[in-house]
Amino acid sequence: MSDCIFCKIIKGEIPSTFIYEDDKLVAFKDIHPAAPTHILFVPKKHYATLNDVPAGDTIISDVTTAIQKTAKKLGLADKGYRVVTNVNREGGQVVFHLHVHMLGGRALEDKMG
Ligand code: 5GP
Ligand code: ZN
Repeated sequence: MSDCIFCKIIKGEIPSTFIYEDDKLVAFKDIHPAAPTHILFVPKKHYATLNDVPAGDTIISDVTTAIQKTAKKLGLADKGYRVVTNVNREGGQVVFHLHVHMLGGRALEDKMG
């Protein structure tokens, strides 16, 4: 996906600092943080939305493992944090390369929607 901003970040065409990287995914800070910690976990493979992940694909499990490690590293595992994936227009998705938000570092009062 040559016109996808997250593909460009993954390929290094847009300079960014990865907080986490393995063979399946990268994580980097959200450019407009909504909380003191706001990290995006992004599969290296381009899926437009969560709807496009095939049954049996382990990417969400891989993302979960990366989030667990990062939460521990940042001291958020016990304090708590939130994980969100927006899907399509009514879900509030703006960047159409699957990503999972990790938010933390403050009390997240607003529950849903
Ligand atoms: P969505 O609404 O699609 O779930 O969230 C997209 C997120 O990507 C937004 O929170 C936005 O701030 C973030 N974002 C958009 N463009 C860039 C970028 O070029 N770099 C980084 N680090 N974050 C971005
Ligand atoms: Zn992409």
